[in-house]
Amino acid sequence: MRIDVVTIFPDYLAPLELSLIGRARRAGLLDVVVHDLREATTDRHRTVDDTPYGGGAGMVMKPEPWGRALDAVLDGGPADVGRPRLLVPSPGGRVLDQAMARELATEPWLVFACGRYEGIDERVLLDAAQRFEVTPVSLGDYVLNGGEVAVLAITEAVARLLPGVVGNAESLVEESHEDGLLEYPVYTKPASWRGLDVPEVLLSGDHAAIARWRHQQRLERTAARRPDLLAPTAADDPAGLAVVP
Ligand code: SAM
Repeated sequence: MRIDVVTIFPDYLAPLELSLIGRARRAGLLDVVVHDLREATTDRHRTVDDTPYGGGAGMVMKPEPWGRALDAVLDGGPADVGRPRLLVPSPGGRVLDQAMARELATEPWLVFACGRYEGIDERVLLDAAQRFEVTPVSLGDYVLNGGEVAVLAITEAVARLLPGVVGNAESLVEESHEDGLLEYPVYTKPASWRGLDVPEVLLSGDHAAIARWRHQQRLERTAARRPDLLAPTAADDPAGLAVVP
């Protein structure tokens, strides 16, 4: 997979050189290229923002540097894939979940446009839609200072799903959100620590009993922490439109 990131803070993406993602890059499983938006400016001050039309607080990212930067990404990208997916971190975007991470993991080429200030001039997205599949994407219902943290989170969620990135592919199967439930609690040695014992069943060697216990734990944990993930109640879905698996 190829990932291009356009940002005014290239150093913010340095963590993508670490850990499993860094190793995947060195192994050639993932190609990440970070671009400085200011390289696409033409004035002495390398200006990327201006005051908003219509007034209001804050600054807006200017369209011209973005247009040039995205053109350059397209020109320098892999030639043999179709329209790249342009992900635009935005608090008003589609909220990232595991299903979306899985969907993005099938793409050959992702491009991220990191907004700052009050965001990017809307015409950049309209213009880009002629050459990219544009998807505004949100980390959740809160406001960050910029899109870079979203790029780190999305890249990690997506890249760990690529073949070979996580050593033991089985560890991906039982994780939280893979089938709508949270993961069961996990334990390691020692069996007793600060007066707290590992549940007896996990020491039993009875694989069927362990599987039953874990499934029960997943249900209980999901009900306690994320009841919204379980089948909707009549109150949530008065018209009965939701399909219960
Ligand atoms: N004025 C914008 C609004 O209310 O929608 C928020 C701008 S925010 C201060 C600056 C940038 O941070 C955004 O353009 C976006 O790139 C990023 N950002 C903020 N919150 C985000 C979120 N929840 N998910 C993804 N990106 C976010």
